[in-house]
Amino acid sequence: MKTLYVETTPARFLAVQALRGLWPGVLWSRLSTLQYREMTPPAPPAGWVHVKNHQGGICGSDLHLIFLDADLGVHPALLPGSTRKYLGHELVGHVLEAPPDSGFKPGDRVIRQMRTGGGSCLAHGLEPCGPCRAGHYHQCERTGLPDSIGGGLSDELYLPAGGLMAVPGDLADAQAVLVEPAACAIHGVLRAPPGPGETVLVYGAGTIAYFVLQVLRIVCPDCRITAIAEFPFQEDMARRCGADEVWLAHDDLLARTAERTGGRVVTGRANRRTLLGGFDRIYDCVGVAATLGLSLRLARARGTVILIGVALKPLTLDLTPVWYNEVNLVGSVSFAVEEWRGERIRDYDIAIRWMREGRLKTEGFVTHRLPLERYREAILAAVRKASSRSVKVVLEMGKG
Ligand SMILES: [Zn+2]
Ligand SMILES: [Zn+2]
Repeated sequence: MKTLYVETTPARFLAVQALRGLWPGVLWSRLSTLQYREMTPPAPPAGWVHVKNHQGGICGSDLHLIFLDADLGVHPALLPGSTRKYLGHELVGHVLEAPPDSGFKPGDRVIRQMRTGGGSCLAHGLEPCGPCRAGHYHQCERTGLPDSIGGGLSDELYLPAGGLMAVPGDLADAQAVLVEPAACAIHGVLRAPPGPGETVLVYGAGTIAYFVLQVLRIVCPDCRITAIAEFPFQEDMARRCGADEVWLAHDDLLARTAERTGGRVVTGRANRRTLLGGFDRIYDCVGVAATLGLSLRLARARGTVILIGVALKPLTLDLTPVWYNEVNLVGSVSFAVEEWRGERIRDYDIAIRWMREGRLKTEGFVTHRLPLERYREAILAAVRKASSRSVKVVLEMGKG
């Protein structure tokens, strides 16, 4: 198995953090938390499915792990789990071997539909815990469930049958590899969907934000949607995905929001400014202190901010809008089961349905395709967006 993983032992974590100021190359060295190996995989638990991976997308959360943009004291880092994190959870491949009662057979095309860090009762075919029973299997309360062996950035992997999903024949690999981020975007929008005619802001212009824009257009055709991009090259795609207008992050966002929503900019002490009025609803698809702090500021009183982007570390930001303006701050993570227009349906099923119907478009999402061995180039393309103009970077392992 050729595989890319992060070894999050405190010793490696601290070594890389201490050394990389002087020696940036430590990240690619043998001392690093990041490891690329060709190895014999450990024996999988009985009943697991063996998958040949075709391609895997690099997600922002993979990049946080790779670059140790993380804190070992945050809630998810304190939950039990293996210190070895196989990178990549957006993938499409085919089954090599599967137990007869697994529901899969060799050759079936599959995607992973299992949260990272061990999945859930449902993925492992266990008696469901409270959250799993309610369909919130992304919040499974079982601990110590074994995660997949290998991930999306490996050429093969092993996982329980419940962590896989068959791909319909008319869904191309290029679409299937994007089902996971599409499902995350659907879950994010359905956590707090807009009402008719609302003014909506999508902060960010990457894979998740582009899907959020498309989902908003489906859920609320008459909403007025603004997107904030970091770079000019992202504007066109944001428009094609449904934004009525696109601003750049360095624009005067308070003034533009006031103008857009009928609000008012107020200048206070030391010429510092704030806003009265603002957007009804804001989806922060970046999730760093600057974007979340500003999102709370750009929401109207009693408006809603949905946090979709993830930070794996504590943030310092002004939370006063949450109490003073009674702004609702709603979190969102991965995907689950939704109540959607009278249907109880998985985000994955909605994503696949909308892709097949042509309502969720994926053209232009994958900007870089590189073989697994060129992972360094791929990772750098994913982080250096200004020069690479990347949206989604995909590592390819071939189908053979
Ligand atoms: Zn992801
Ligand atoms: Zn559970």
